[in-house]
Amino acid sequence: MIDLHIHSSFSPDSDSTVAQIASVAKLKGLKVIGITDHYEMKDGKILSSFDISKYIEEIDRFSGDVEILKGVEWGWDCKGEEPDFEGLDFVMLSVHFCEVPVEMLYECYKDYLSRVLECVKKAPHFDVLGHLDFVRRYVPKNVDVPEDLRCIVYEVLEVLKERGAALELNTEGFAVYGEPQPAVWVFEKAREMGIPVTVGSDAHNLENIGRFVERAFKLLKGVGYDSVAVFRKGRISEVGI
Ligand SMILES: [Zn+2]
Ligand SMILES: [Zn+2]
Repeated sequence: MIDLHIHSSFSPDSDSTVAQIASVAKLKGLKVIGITDHYEMKDGKILSSFDISKYIEEIDRFSGDVEILKGVEWGWDCKGEEPDFEGLDFVMLSVHFCEVPVEMLYECYKDYLSRVLECVKKAPHFDVLGHLDFVRRYVPKNVDVPEDLRCIVYEVLEVLKERGAALELNTEGFAVYGEPQPAVWVFEKAREMGIPVTVGSDAHNLENIGRFVERAFKLLKGVGYDSVAVFRKGRISEVGI
């Protein structure tokens, strides 16, 4: 089992130490995990960050029985420069902002997805796009992307394909509303286009590490994937599922 989206205490919203994550991941039978702490930017300013050299040192110290990959969840709003992520295994680009209230579902999705599209086009470098339909966690009744906005999602996938980036299946959606994040139709399209996928729990505590990963693998197999992507020093490789 693999979980490439875990937050440690290098993020402001998690208390799990790297040592605790490594031992819990081992107990849960995970073979490879990725720690992806928040490096969050808005309007060109850093909202939360961490000391990358300390982070690398700490992860290397505890990587062993369970291989721990050094990732970062780079929260970006398309403004400002990309930080220097030298030395990390992968960069997961995530958009966490929507300027429109979630109650205005259609406009909120439109605003959010348009920003994702702009960011994937503009970002100098990233390896994975995190939780493509992030706002679904918060919109009323977790309604999926409206039909006539799905063309924006397809455009995002085109950019991922062109740039050789992977798409994340974030299992948080299973916990909140019983579906993967993004929805199955996005993975069906991604599979058709030959876009690699990663799977991550987005765990902000020890309990959620590896949560619903098996369910995600099963779903991916159902749409035709037989492997998921991992990144070592920015190089992608596939692991059978
Ligand atoms: Zn996120
Ligand atoms: Zn996250």
